[in-house]
Amino acid sequence: MNHPPEIVIAGGGIAGLTLALALHDAGITARVYESTTTLGELGVGINVLPHAAREFARLGVLDRLVASGVELERYMWFNRFGQEILAEPRGRRAGYAWPQVSIHRGALHRILAEAVRERLGHGAIVLGHHLQDFAQDDARVQARFVDKASGARRAAVECDLLVAADGIHSAARRTFYPDEGPPRWAGNMMWRMTVELARPVLGGATMFSAGTGDIKVVGYEISAAHKAAGGSLFNWIAEVKVGEPETTPPEREDWNRVATVDEFLPHFADWTFDWLDVPALARASRQAFAFPMVDRDPLPRWTHGRVTLLGDAAHPMWPIGSNGASQAVLDCRALVDALVADAAGDLEAALAAYEGERRPATAAVVEANRSRAHDSMLDLVAARAPAGFERIEDVVSRAELEALSASYKQTARFAREQL
Ligand SMILES: Cc1cc2nc3c(=O)[nH]c(=O)nc-3n(C[C@H](O)[C@H](O)[C@H](O)COP(=O)(O)OP(=O)(O)OC[C@H]3O[C@@H](n4cnc5c(N)ncnc54)[C@H](O)[C@@H]3O)c2cc1C
Repeated sequence: MNHPPEIVIAGGGIAGLTLALALHDAGITARVYESTTTLGELGVGINVLPHAAREFARLGVLDRLVASGVELERYMWFNRFGQEILAEPRGRRAGYAWPQVSIHRGALHRILAEAVRERLGHGAIVLGHHLQDFAQDDARVQARFVDKASGARRAAVECDLLVAADGIHSAARRTFYPDEGPPRWAGNMMWRMTVELARPVLGGATMFSAGTGDIKVVGYEISAAHKAAGGSLFNWIAEVKVGEPETTPPEREDWNRVATVDEFLPHFADWTFDWLDVPALARASRQAFAFPMVDRDPLPRWTHGRVTLLGDAAHPMWPIGSNGASQAVLDCRALVDALVADAAGDLEAALAAYEGERRPATAAVVEANRSRAHDSMLDLVAARAPAGFERIEDVVSRAELEALSASYKQTARFAREQL
């Protein structure tokens, strides 16, 4: 192959759109084929960690993300009584060269889609194309699409490389691993929601986790506009263990399943702290998106010939530690660098380099999230002081807490010294 590879990306989520931008930036053209027929602003809050912010800066979209979302300055952990365990600086406040940005997923998605269309042309995102399967030989791969609603076959698309960025229910992954079955459930349900508040929570630039691994509230601000007006668009997640790990979740993972807050409110009836009234927050939120906390086992291989996996298709992970989108962004950088570095045009070697770098790295994050590493101090403190504490220093030293937090950052590769 002595021409730049023709690349088809299946899936126009955060990963697929970022990959299109990064390829374009490197002089490689790609087209994104997305299953849905419109690009709606879906989801609620999402986080961009500093290592992913660095990539977005390089792609020239970080300013737009910061203008829409909120630059995080602090992370705080609390027990289930709202008592402070640890507060640590984040993003630029912690000395990073890049911020940590909390943003509405819909806004992040829209900003990326706009940038793709501005730079690659409107036709670079092809809607209504659901990857069904593919055929390949030594020279080319043929991606086959259907209209998801009607099942009608679309024209097949030929390319040199098919990148499947088609999310947790990836069709390509299923083709490679037909016996894998449904995602693994942690036993926890998550209810995600946003609510407009008169005043920001914890000063407006703080993300927090409060509770334990079995029952927890996580929250952060996501709107620069609300913040500038002195108010708040607050994103929060109520998480409750409702079943046993490794059993079948009560429902299929659907990011858009709307639930009432009554589904989880009784679990938090007495969660009234001096800095947050959880029942009042739930009632003000009115509705939520319910999602079982699932992931999949790390795979032995992502690349099969001219087809490879990227983002959630490759490594769906429990959303503990805000790494889902960020790790997908790092995949994009690694794949593009590998393609560019391989001047001889040896696709096989480039894909091996991409996978060699990213598969072990993301497997480590999947495992760390399974051990709840980012929030492990919550369970540690709950075990040592189940009824709460007078002084956190009597329960655990600050050095121990900081070591726990630092260890997760190292695994997910966003410790300051790693950037
Ligand atoms: C609707 C939606 C809402 C979400 N909301 C949140 C949220 O609020 N907070 C959060 O932290 N994370 C959310 N996520 C997940 C988060 O975006 C991902 O974990 C992370 O950003 C990695 O991105 P990804 O592109 O790999 O996967 P995703 O963002 O899931 O994107 C996958 C894309 O592929 C498309 N697709 C699926 N199957 C096919 C197919 N066979 N052919 C072509 N296209 C296909 C999907 O429509 C989607 O656009 C949401 C995902 C979705 C799809």
